[in-house]
Amino acid sequence: MPNRFRTILLFGAPGSGKGTQGKILGQIPGFYHLSCGEVFRSLDIHSDLGKTFYEFSSRGELVPDDVTVRMWEQNIRAQTVLSRYKPHSDLLVLDGIPRNEHQARIMDKHIKVLAVIHLVCPDKEEMIKRLRKRALKENRADDAREDVIRRRWDVYEKETYPVLAHYPKDLIQQIDAVGSPAEVLQHMLERVVPIQNQHFSNPLG
Ligand code: AMP
Repeated sequence: MPNRFRTILLFGAPGSGKGTQGKILGQIPGFYHLSCGEVFRSLDIHSDLGKTFYEFSSRGELVPDDVTVRMWEQNIRAQTVLSRYKPHSDLLVLDGIPRNEHQARIMDKHIKVLAVIHLVCPDKEEMIKRLRKRALKENRADDAREDVIRRRWDVYEKETYPVLAHYPKDLIQQIDAVGSPAEVLQHMLERVVPIQNQHFSNPLG
């Protein structure tokens, strides 16, 4: 197993479409998508970790770093053991982690970041509209209330956005997040496919 997982990070504000794009990429052979938020949402709400997640996420806040990274490590290890994620042949697509500078430093031990795909959304109100729509569709407590959505944005601006500065500038690829999922996907693939070709052999070949 490579000592650090070869990874691209999907980066962007709440509502920028990281999860949607990550899910689509994850369907393509040779990519493995892991969303930290999805892992949290899959926890049993009555477990200690499930309760901690609910406590923080329902306020629009980040779950403490130690708990988060430990859970992420256990999860990625389990996916590897189950051969769902194959580090030799799959490019890891992470969404929602690292979410602050401290997490980025811890994650450096585990991942080799080949690119940071920054989904840029200049129109904050448009993103907030998207989140409200999603809340109705997915029954998400953290997107159901206007004050919680705004708190998520504040946390993004104060804690998460500075994570970009943690990575070398030449790894950061800006993509316009406004547009249909298909348009955004087209732009993503233009950036991501060459990276996969450069680092991995054809997964079906
Ligand atoms: P997301 O689906 O990525 O928007 O995540 C939903 C919620 O899960 C966030 O608002 C946080 O409460 C929590 N969460 C997800 N990823 C992280 C992370 N890397 N660090 C801390 N909390 C996280």
